[in-house]
Amino acid sequence: MRVRFAPSPTGYLHVGNARTAVLNYLVAQKNKATYVLRVEDTDMERSSRQSEQSIMDDLRWLGITWDEGPVEGGDYGPYRQSERFDIYSEYTQRLLAEGKAYHCYCSQEELDQLRQQADREKRPFVYPGNCRNLSDKQKQQFQSEGRKPTVRFLVPDDETITVNDHIKGTITFNSQHIGGDFIIVRSDGVPIYNYIVIIDDALMKITHVIRGEDHLPNTPKQVLVAKALGLPLPEYAHMPLLLGPDRAKLSKRHGITSVAVYRDEGYLPEALMNFLGILGWATESGDEVLSPDELVQQFELSNLAKSSALFDFQKLRWMNAIYIRDYALDAITDLFIPYIEKAGYSLEQVDRKWFESVIDLVRGNCEVLSDIHKHISIFLDQVPEPEEEAKALFEGDEDARTIVSAALKLLKNGTLHQDNFVSDTIALIKEETSLKGKKLFLPIRAMLTGRLHGPELDRSLPLIGFDIFSQRIEDAASRYLNQ
Ligand code: GLU
Repeated sequence: MRVRFAPSPTGYLHVGNARTAVLNYLVAQKNKATYVLRVEDTDMERSSRQSEQSIMDDLRWLGITWDEGPVEGGDYGPYRQSERFDIYSEYTQRLLAEGKAYHCYCSQEELDQLRQQADREKRPFVYPGNCRNLSDKQKQQFQSEGRKPTVRFLVPDDETITVNDHIKGTITFNSQHIGGDFIIVRSDGVPIYNYIVIIDDALMKITHVIRGEDHLPNTPKQVLVAKALGLPLPEYAHMPLLLGPDRAKLSKRHGITSVAVYRDEGYLPEALMNFLGILGWATESGDEVLSPDELVQQFELSNLAKSSALFDFQKLRWMNAIYIRDYALDAITDLFIPYIEKAGYSLEQVDRKWFESVIDLVRGNCEVLSDIHKHISIFLDQVPEPEEEAKALFEGDEDARTIVSAALKLLKNGTLHQDNFVSDTIALIKEETSLKGKKLFLPIRAMLTGRLHGPELDRSLPLIGFDIFSQRIEDAASRYLNQ
């Protein structure tokens, strides 16, 4: 079995395409199939090596590996379509010689007129075959006018094309309804996707084409070309498209659609792979958090629902939070570091063991790695700048200020000290002020961290340490008490 992912390098890797890559990967792993990466870069104006590189980087980051590709090579290369023009050209000569394709001299303006006429008559445009039977004289005439011909594939009349799709079931098309003879080579000599894709699938011995259902309307054209050339056909699986939460085609206005941006925001590749791998189907147990191995074990193409899959951004965040929580501490600490440095902290002097304990404490509050900046300042700043709501608490509530003065008193008279500040701070302040519940806990937290929410205090205090603990009480006193 051989499968392929065939991106066009005309931009970043979109999550929809990443999902195609992931599902091909799962199928390949499950069936011990060969995974081919083919770069479909015939759109010279829009394709770039830079985009190809970024797509490959994103795939590797996601954890997808392939066996054959433009960099790795393989027995069926080259793996960039732009490097295969000689191959296509041979097939074009054959089709022309066998009368299965012909040169078309219609100009863009003439075609536009035909298209407009179809629009006016409210019918789909079908190329009427004007150049199907040109005489040599007519051809010479066109050539002498300087017209450069395209090559059109001669679509047989009234032929039924049946595709047995692994997801969609049996679909039949009639050759009358695919828009007439279609262009396979542009007038500048560049061959068209629908033509060369099937040549490459055949020559690269692809057995299963798994791709988005936006390619379904292309399939009859590809099947006809294969038949005309006597090439074997792959099996097909067309996956329902990804939709945004409002059921419209997933687009930027719904949220992030670029894999690279997910990476930058601090999504973990394992979480994104899990999320994309599980979209559009459900495991028997209902479990959704699956390791790559579990995904491979449980995934079947036929599991995929026939209807579209909704891209639930909230669920992806939820899943990412689980991966952050359960990741090996050492590794997740490394992954957090760039985000902490980006927030302006230098970690050079920081003790690694201490730092890992901090990360372990706050990672539960992070849905994405970049959330860390909201939670780390209480450990990395001597006295973190209090948030507005913490300030408001002290400024608006006499009882909250009482907590600060009690803490200051206990500190100054030595009741609170190095050995008991972790275990007894709350109890001692409670005794001193007779405040309890929220009235007690909230101001203590706000005084010590500048925040109303955060990790558990009794786990935070040992990491903050007595010196800084004392400093923060004194700072709160000078901020909020009229001394
Ligand atoms: N290059 C095509 C695309 O990026 C994929 C073609 C295919 O899978 O057949 O949409």
